[in-house]
Amino acid sequence: MIDKEKVKEAVSMLLSAIGEDASREGLKDTPDRVARMYEEIYAGYEDDASERLSRQFETEETGAAGGIVLEKDITFYSVCEHHMLPFFGKVHIAYIPDKRIVGLSKLARTVEVFARRLQVQERLTSQIADAVYSELGAKGVLVIASAEHTCMTMRGVKKPGTQTVTMSARGLFENDEALKGQVLALLRT
Ligand SMILES: [Zn+2]
Repeated sequence: MIDKEKVKEAVSMLLSAIGEDASREGLKDTPDRVARMYEEIYAGYEDDASERLSRQFETEETGAAGGIVLEKDITFYSVCEHHMLPFFGKVHIAYIPDKRIVGLSKLARTVEVFARRLQVQERLTSQIADAVYSELGAKGVLVIASAEHTCMTMRGVKKPGTQTVTMSARGLFENDEALKGQVLALLRT
């Protein structure tokens, strides 16, 4: 649960620490605004992937060949835990169902559960993979994320447009390069 009063105090302190006048017109509501914004962008701490993935449907489709479900280009925004700056991009989730599937919007909701926290991209990717793998009992899951980290692009090495790509495989995708290749081919379509 976000402690809004504490966030407001901290933001006021930050403003004066960087040499700002926290009482000037443009800044006087900023601590409150940031506190309310944090409730939204850090809502993932209060959220639960197992709930998001709990409504499942039966499917006839099983087995590796042709049984891949791919939800691609799920946009996400998260915050890096090293600098508290945003990183954002796309997540692609592929899974091979074992008789159970979920509504596609639930996969996007699952991404939000883990993105709306302080994160590193590697952990974000593997938490999504673990959630889909265990909650759905999928035969295999492959999660690929590509993102721009503003801590790399607006400061430090300043290389705008640099994309960081991470991948997490579970189950059948762990050792089957051909199966992984099928997903990568689908991502190019
Ligand atoms: Zn960072």
